[in-house]
Amino acid sequence: MQPLPEHTKAAGSAAFIGFALDQVVHLFSRGHGPGGEVEIIEVAPRTHYIRPGIVNIGVFETDEGLLMVDAGLPGDGPALLRAVRSISDKPLHTVVYTHGHLDHAFGLWSFLEAGETPTIIAHENLLRHFERYMKTPGLNAVINKQLPGGTEGKMWPAQRTDFLWPTVTFTDKIDLEIGGEHFEVHHGKGETDDCAWVWAPERRVIAAGDLVTGYLPNAGNPRKVQRYAEEWADVAETMARLRPEVILPGHGVPVRGEKAIRDELSTITAYLRHIVDHTLAGLNAGMLHDDIVDTLRIPDELAAHPRLPAIYDKPEFICRNVIRRYSGWWDGYLADLLPAPRREQAAEYATLAGGVNTLIERANQLADTNIRLACHLAETAFLAGPDDPAARQCYLDVFTRRAELEPALMAKTIFSEVLQRVQERAADSEPK
Ligand SMILES: [Zn+2]
Repeated sequence: MQPLPEHTKAAGSAAFIGFALDQVVHLFSRGHGPGGEVEIIEVAPRTHYIRPGIVNIGVFETDEGLLMVDAGLPGDGPALLRAVRSISDKPLHTVVYTHGHLDHAFGLWSFLEAGETPTIIAHENLLRHFERYMKTPGLNAVINKQLPGGTEGKMWPAQRTDFLWPTVTFTDKIDLEIGGEHFEVHHGKGETDDCAWVWAPERRVIAAGDLVTGYLPNAGNPRKVQRYAEEWADVAETMARLRPEVILPGHGVPVRGEKAIRDELSTITAYLRHIVDHTLAGLNAGMLHDDIVDTLRIPDELAAHPRLPAIYDKPEFICRNVIRRYSGWWDGYLADLLPAPRREQAAEYATLAGGVNTLIERANQLADTNIRLACHLAETAFLAGPDDPAARQCYLDVFTRRAELEPALMAKTIFSEVLQRVQERAADSEPK
């Protein structure tokens, strides 16, 4: 624990929270949460896993009150409150935010509105995380447009009063005694630089937030700020050393059994270190960024782990994130240092090819044998002829196939979002 900076002390005061609450309720209460059943599982004595929607909440009941890990999406608040009250009538003693993402740190308003007065604990970097959100509401609305069960662009929090700020922050680790029981809140970077996770040694339970999710760690997201693959590997190693018997993940189902957990955590460590080592070796050898990514191979024993499929993020994206962390934005190609706009480049290639139609024809041919390359030609054709219906159709067709072939949701979503915008724009420009 450490003293809070001035502005956060204010944020932690009851008066501030009262004011913030009005704003937050006003912003979020009009129903973005799922209306269906809330899943509740008792994973260990007095230890509950609650899933109000896409994200999981951990609740540790003690004689003194409840320790709740995360608070869900803004719209999850009411359902989460009902779920918690269905398992215990003890006061909400402490809440830990595992990080500042919208699906983890925004559902608490329902509890405060109901009169609960918990201590709210978060890593000190969460303050910067929220402050970054305040600077970039438009950008976040675009990036998170399709967060399942999430929020619409106009609802993205932007004012200081839109957030329920922590009342206590910490640097490395904070020890808690609640109801005579010991809990530890640890920091370790991973998906974000403000991650916290909770260890309940007497129950042998870890509430991991998004550091454990049941799929390849989200350490490469192409549209988001820096992720921390190296530290993530270290955190998984630290967790494994504690020999937990249950892990409550940020998403997906609880993991049970010391052996299964050790196996999963050690594979996360090995998987991430493999990508980081490959990337650093490439950078140190002076390789072009594209070549570093193109030569990345994931050993079968890592890729085949049943709890780590690349169905959300991709190893290639994690590799690029490591490249970004250690080097500049320039990709090493001279023409890309001070490039001509892509549209101008595309128009020139189309002219050289004898017209956009040649590019379209070749893109369609290649789509059967080399979809990656076909995408480049289809995009070049579309940039060269943005108003040409045939070029647009080729673009839509080729990238629709690419999206269908793509196993990782993150890439699939980006393909579909852009295609949808292209279709909407085309529909708008049609004569009515
Ligand atoms: Zn999450």
